[in-house]
Amino acid sequence: KNTLAKTDPELWAAIEAETRRQQDHIELIASENYVSWAVMEAQGSQLTNKYAEGYPGKRYYGGCEHVDVAEQLAIDRAKKLYGADCANVQPNSGSQANQAVFLAFLKPGDTILGMSLAEGGHLTHGMALNMSGKWFKVVPYGLTAKEEIDYDAMEKLAHEHKPKLIIAGASAYALKIDFERFAKVAKDVGAIFMVDMAHYAGLVAAGFYPNPVPHADVVTSTTHKTLRGPRGGLILMKAEHEKAINSAIFPGLQGGPLEHVIAAKAVAFKEAMTPEFRNYQEQVIDNAQVMCKVLKSRGLRIVSGRTESHVFLVDLQAKNITGKDAEAALGKAHLTVNKNAIPNDPQKPFVTSGIRIGTPAMTTRGFTEIEAEQVANLIADVLDAPSDEAVLARVRGEVAALCKKFPVYGD
Ligand code: PLP
Repeated sequence: KNTLAKTDPELWAAIEAETRRQQDHIELIASENYVSWAVMEAQGSQLTNKYAEGYPGKRYYGGCEHVDVAEQLAIDRAKKLYGADCANVQPNSGSQANQAVFLAFLKPGDTILGMSLAEGGHLTHGMALNMSGKWFKVVPYGLTAKEEIDYDAMEKLAHEHKPKLIIAGASAYALKIDFERFAKVAKDVGAIFMVDMAHYAGLVAAGFYPNPVPHADVVTSTTHKTLRGPRGGLILMKAEHEKAINSAIFPGLQGGPLEHVIAAKAVAFKEAMTPEFRNYQEQVIDNAQVMCKVLKSRGLRIVSGRTESHVFLVDLQAKNITGKDAEAALGKAHLTVNKNAIPNDPQKPFVTSGIRIGTPAMTTRGFTEIEAEQVANLIADVLDAPSDEAVLARVRGEVAALCKKFPVYGD
């Protein structure tokens, strides 16, 4: 049935090589995961052929009776999973989900309050070169000296600048966020409160991270990080905002929805309701905590001192290596991480003094505390001797053995 190899051998070779890379390297990028075969099957299905502008039951094209079923399943499951009034499962990405919220509630020139990118926020929360930073007046909040969100400063800024929208959520923040506190501040200043839970969505679904849905006007997310679904976006909202958000996605921002991806989201939401998924998320957090402990014992500093989630930042300054060089050295040992700025980073954003580590992908392939401890020690071994070819070769060997023992897609 697979004709891709025959139709396009050049492309097939690239896909095969990427599949091998995913199998043979330990993936520690906090925003990545390995989806199930069922998710891939839905995403690779005939639903890719269908135009379906509009929403289930109200389409601008004929022949939508079956994609309506698929999209309604995704909507109903997303609502149930998070206890939301309403859900829009059409955003093509996390960024587009956020853009839809901006389009629904803001005009260019309005003020938004979001977490600064340099201290853990996402670029769609007001970074200067992003649309959010170009079209809106951005007031950033950040961290305290203890590297925890500075709620007092955030509250003060909100009262001073009266933003129309307050955003909570982050791409590189290891601790639990106090959504209730944000919601109170938003209410006090009359702002719309949006939570971007992209990183934490799987942990939230399993009950290991605070659920922002009861507190926020709108919750945006990606579906492909801890949630382990296809690459895409999701918006959950209070009933009063449904019309504004749905029109912001279509016709505001997007045309025909990706019904094959929406079907894959439906599968992922179903998987996220199982006891296995709950156990998986618990293991994700346990693994992250073990890794923090080992890295600390090897002389590295963890930003915020600990993790309460799937992710943490490592301050590399004690080892005299930059994030850029650490990423490259670890890559040679088949350990995939990304460099990441740490708070008050003296290095440029393309160099940095930190790396970000996440456990969702390695936990999906079956790693538990034993392997987490081993992987953290391997990371420290490389950071202690980043240009020692013998060390890199030994680590690569241990990585190869671990990867062989824990196949990603079962071979
Ligand atoms: N929001 C947060 C908090 C993220 O971390 C990310 C992705 O890294 C996004 C939004 C954007 O998602 P996407 O890459 O699907 O546009």
